[in-house]
Amino acid sequence: MNHDTSAVDPRRSPLVATLTLGCKLNQAETQQAARELQRHGCITIDRPTQADAYLINTCTITHIADRKARRLIRLANRLSPDAPVIVTGCYAERDGARLAQLPQVRIVGNQSKQQAATALLSAIENSASSTESRIASSSRTRSFIKIQEGCDDVCAFCIVPYVRGRERAIPIDEIVELARERVAEGVQEIVLTGTQPGAYGRDLADGTSAAKLIEALLARTDAPRIRYSSIQPQDITPQLLACWDDARMCRHFHLALQSGSDNVLARMRRRYTSSEFCDAVQRIRVAVPGASITTDIIAGFPGERDADHDQTLRLMEALRFSDVHVFPYSVRPNTSASLLEDDIAAEIKRTRAAELRELGAAHRREALKSRVGAIESVLFESAHSGLTDTYLPVQVARGVDLTNQIRSVRIDSVAESILVGELLG
Ligand code: SF4
Repeated sequence: MNHDTSAVDPRRSPLVATLTLGCKLNQAETQQAARELQRHGCITIDRPTQADAYLINTCTITHIADRKARRLIRLANRLSPDAPVIVTGCYAERDGARLAQLPQVRIVGNQSKQQAATALLSAIENSASSTESRIASSSRTRSFIKIQEGCDDVCAFCIVPYVRGRERAIPIDEIVELARERVAEGVQEIVLTGTQPGAYGRDLADGTSAAKLIEALLARTDAPRIRYSSIQPQDITPQLLACWDDARMCRHFHLALQSGSDNVLARMRRRYTSSEFCDAVQRIRVAVPGASITTDIIAGFPGERDADHDQTLRLMEALRFSDVHVFPYSVRPNTSASLLEDDIAAEIKRTRAAELRELGAAHRREALKSRVGAIESVLFESAHSGLTDTYLPVQVARGVDLTNQIRSVRIDSVAESILVGELLG
């Protein structure tokens, strides 16, 4: 679609590309900004294309995330040289001055992120009053809802507390109201997200907790599915796990391990030991049969010996995650780990990361194969493909458009890391 972006034609709706890098919290915030823009008559699209303006929500978790953000800004410049580019998110918060040197860029930091849409609207001022607003993104099936922001844990490698601040929970009533709105719009799955979603309510000290939030959502909304994204082993309480007695809760837990060695976990300032992590996984698997557990692991943290790496491989063998995201350690400015000597050679980091990924991929294949013959509940995100509640991708034969439907599928085989099945009923 060729789009003349030189001057916004007032007779048509401005097209805004809302682009997200990083975590689900960023996705929730971009979706929120996109809705704000639609309410003001814009058309939003969640992929890089020619547009009247761009909103780029950045991440700074690694130097690779920084590089991706700069590349995306340059791509926006190439696609629509005159279009304003609002850059927000953690990289903008950490190093906005550098990004502001790029053409057309205006910086909106994390602390004032709610104003990103307003900043963008004023940048395309005088843009046309629209006849309709269209959502051109997958937020029709799944909606990310921000439940808290910030983190009081200061893991040695992590820059997030510096760019997201202290923990701040959003009140339960506000979250329930937003979820009801989204369900009324036809959204099938609510994804609860934040910087430290597991610690939800910890800052309120009035007994508010993640378990209480989920109990309220289950009792006061008709959300067909609720997904609770990343939590820490220390957040896994019996009251929380009891919420999964309700079949609407997605049986997927993302528990970031980072290392299987107690020596490295202590240096990372993580709040659990390897045996406490295993215990949490065990308690999940007992309370939620069939649960899928995914994780993050850092390869080559300062001081990581061969023996530490072997312990991580052994723990992976014991726990058999459904998926593993591996990150070679990269120094982040201002973190306490940046004061440690980055003594693991890049080559060793690469080798260890490759070993971890290879083992993780083998366990993923196993997890997928184990679903052959099973009946899965699938939320179709497009006409013929979707996700199980355990976060596994499924494809069925072409036929009627199943987008935004939750249907039962009998899994017949695995093809290229996707479950292939037959629609039932
Ligand atoms: S828990 Fe640790 S890794 Fe996670 S956001 Fe907080 S400081 Fe970062």
